[in-house]
Amino acid sequence: MQTIGHWIGGKSVTGTSGRAGPVYDPARGIVAKEVALASAAEVDDAVKVAVGTSAIWRAVPLSRRVAVLFRLRELIDARRDDLAAIVTREHGKTLVDARGEVDRGLECVEFACGIPHLLKGEHTSEVSAGVDVHTVLQPVGVVAGITPFNFPVMVPLWMLASALACGNAFVLKPSEKDPSASLLLAELIQRAGFPDGTFNVLHGDAEAVDALLTHPDVDAVSFVGSTVVARHVYETGTRHGKRVQALGGAKNHMVVLPDADVDAAADAAVSAAYGSAGERCMAISVVVAVGPVGDALVDAVVARIPDVVIGPGDDDASMMGPLITPEHRDRVRSYVQRAAGEGAQVVVDGSGAAADDGFYVGCSLLDQVEPGMRVYDDEIFGPVLSVVRVGSFDEAVALVNANPYGNGVALFTRDGGAARRFERDVEVGMVGINVPIPVPVASYSFGGWKASRFGDISMYGPDGTRFYTRPKVVTSRWPETPSRAIDLGFPTTT
Ligand code: NAD
Repeated sequence: MQTIGHWIGGKSVTGTSGRAGPVYDPARGIVAKEVALASAAEVDDAVKVAVGTSAIWRAVPLSRRVAVLFRLRELIDARRDDLAAIVTREHGKTLVDARGEVDRGLECVEFACGIPHLLKGEHTSEVSAGVDVHTVLQPVGVVAGITPFNFPVMVPLWMLASALACGNAFVLKPSEKDPSASLLLAELIQRAGFPDGTFNVLHGDAEAVDALLTHPDVDAVSFVGSTVVARHVYETGTRHGKRVQALGGAKNHMVVLPDADVDAAADAAVSAAYGSAGERCMAISVVVAVGPVGDALVDAVVARIPDVVIGPGDDDASMMGPLITPEHRDRVRSYVQRAAGEGAQVVVDGSGAAADDGFYVGCSLLDQVEPGMRVYDDEIFGPVLSVVRVGSFDEAVALVNANPYGNGVALFTRDGGAARRFERDVEVGMVGINVPIPVPVASYSFGGWKASRFGDISMYGPDGTRFYTRPKVVTSRWPETPSRAIDLGFPTTT
């Protein structure tokens, strides 16, 4: 069986740890390959290479960096179908969905092509007699990126496009569940003209992650994954003196007001809950039905579920593929199977509906769900939609705000005033008004609130430049006539 190796210093490197993990073909329910799992010593090798190249890359003039980024944009665009096919094979999502992920990642490369504008500092002349002040934004050095299984192309591109554009070297530790797309990205990055060693891929699990978090030569860590690991990454990385941004899990609500267009809301709920089999951090997992809209909305969702065609992601007819691993499939099923015992009404039970040769589950719909039930409190990360019924707009906002997560939220209404209040009062980082999955475009930044993000700076967009650079403030005096007096007093601005 093929064992997927690392990419260090511009070439493929076989793993030496003696440890490997399974890479499934989830549509067929088989182990298709293995992936090497790096040891702390291999992490050290990769970081050393990155440190060496970081000094070279940061000195490359901006005009040349931009040319390389434009080339990378073209190369990724030319290989988008190949990238999508790899994602579908290892993750299971449909090809349409995988292409969408590649396109959203590509947006981040396009945004990074504007790096000369983004790296402009500030300048104030004559802050004091003959004294000027300006800022320079310098790369942080070596950045480690640790990414989840659900977007094996887009999330690495969220990070690496800005990090490399700012002049850093990068070590990517992708999810060990779908590791291959990162290696094609590495090849394209090399072909675009980045110096070898600027971008490295190290496969692994917790051992590699912990080695990166504690390595003295890693300067910054970008993480995306579950909340429990995000908290660990944030606490460990910052304790070791690193700049860390760690995006975590989610429980995203879609509030539907009584005046909403029920058909449009039901279309949105079905698409956002069951798309990518619910394995999106911005998936809608809870519909909050306000007042009398509940019954009509549940009926409209039920009517649409049979239309969702489940099957292999590479079959054009499929709308929803399998889950990532057999363990995850069983976990998702167990939530649905326990729901009735917790007091929820199982309106559609998809836990046993799909074929067993891949890691499939069907779409499930649970009504009368309440906080305190496991199906509400936990991030299930599967095609399970819960409906919580509340009496008023205020109750809906209070429910969303009481949830420990704060990644995404959506409101469906025709009432502009209600939308305005919602936008102001809801404690969530990314808000959609009649938009179910409000992933910000690349010229904004992506980040949730509360347990969905640790660290203050969001990912990509303007925040990407802030995270991957350190500002330096320079105060300079070039006297027109040389001054010869010494002055031991504290410098003042008068
Ligand atoms: P995960 O937390 O299990 O894994 C993420 C990364 O951390 C992987 O590279 C993995 O190898 C590593 N890892 C796993 N366990 C670890 C441990 N104990 N110590 C150190 N490293 C460890 O997440 P996942 O299952 O790959 O992805 C799904 C999760 O990611 C969901 O919770 C989802 O909401 C979240 N997610 C969040 C966002 C966001 O932007 N907020 C985006 C995508 C996914």
